[in-house]
Amino acid sequence: MNYQIAVLAGDGIGPEITDGAIRVLQKIGEIYHHTFEFTHYLMGGCAIDETGCPLPEETVKGCLASDSVLLGAVGGPKWDSLPGDKRPEKGLLGIRKALGLYSNIRPAKLWSSLAHASPLKYELVKDGVEIIIVRELIGGIYFGERGLDEIDGEKSAWDTERYSVHEIERIARIACELAMKRSKIVTSVDKANVLESSRLWRKTVHEYAAKHFPEIEVRDVLVDNMAMQIVKNPAQFDVVVTSNIFGDILSDEAAQVTGSIGMLASSSLGDTTLGLYEPIHGSAPDIAGKDLANPIATILAAGMMLRDSFGLTKEYEAIEKAIQSVLDEGYRTADIYSEGMKKIGGKEMAERIAAAI
Ligand code: NAD
Repeated sequence: MNYQIAVLAGDGIGPEITDGAIRVLQKIGEIYHHTFEFTHYLMGGCAIDETGCPLPEETVKGCLASDSVLLGAVGGPKWDSLPGDKRPEKGLLGIRKALGLYSNIRPAKLWSSLAHASPLKYELVKDGVEIIIVRELIGGIYFGERGLDEIDGEKSAWDTERYSVHEIERIARIACELAMKRSKIVTSVDKANVLESSRLWRKTVHEYAAKHFPEIEVRDVLVDNMAMQIVKNPAQFDVVVTSNIFGDILSDEAAQVTGSIGMLASSSLGDTTLGLYEPIHGSAPDIAGKDLANPIATILAAGMMLRDSFGLTKEYEAIEKAIQSVLDEGYRTADIYSEGMKKIGGKEMAERIAAAI
């Protein structure tokens, strides 16, 4: 098969890590007889420098015409003083909107060979952890009605959380589809003991799952309890579905459990198979151009693209196995290095993973 992939390398370490992921995809192509065609487009600071705009029209058109999109990272101190709508990060919101992406899938995976990197007790994580947080991305309080006014001469501000049945059902579908390929258990996180929007969330997730995915078991956890359980016993969770604001906070907490930001990928999907795949970390300007960046998060993101957009599960598993074997051999980039291991640069890490496929 022939797949068209739009690459938005972005700024800082973006070009290094996307190069690493491309190298691995090329190796997958050779072995499994697929052709991946990569077209680079500008987004973020590099796009501002060249065109004056963080998300040029040509980039949106190119992404829409592709089978999927691989993103590095955007931003950096050079563009920090620009006004809000001219900032590189504006490109991120813009591309998600333009591609109609309403879900964000963040697997927080702790590889058993990196269990010592977790801030949690070794016994809690020694067998590895994988929590997949499915976050609603374009609704809820971040996009709700808001305002700032004065009551009796005192400043007052408000934001509103609103979810419709349709918005909840479509994110529940994504979580259920994922869970069907895994444990068949979906943990739905809300604050239904207090919030009206959470009560509708809970009712809708249960009704939707019962109707469309009768094999799925839905478990409810209140968000405050979830925050505790993630650090108490993270291995109990598999697929977790939640609202925009709760997902924002919990996915960062779950990421910390893994202890290494350079190992975590994420994807954003909508109604079609065209998705946006990226590492969760930023453009790391402090290490850009020094061959210190860990490419594994971006390589995993490329692997998720194969599985979730192209249906190439075997190829995804080959990438995961290759990463595992390189880690088992003791190779580490600086961010995940510990004594007794073999320290290598980001480029060599990508080469070794490609060679291990
Ligand atoms: P960051 O994630 O870029 O870096 C945080 C720390 O983690 C740094 O010390 C960095 O060196 C390290 N790090 C990150 N990725 C790494 C990797 N692959 N290998 C090794 N070490 C790695 O976060 P930040 O410093 O807060 O932000 C830097 C810039 O990135 C800012 O302009 C910010 O707005 C932007 N940003 C972009 C995205 C995105 O493009 N999706 C996400 C977050 C931040």
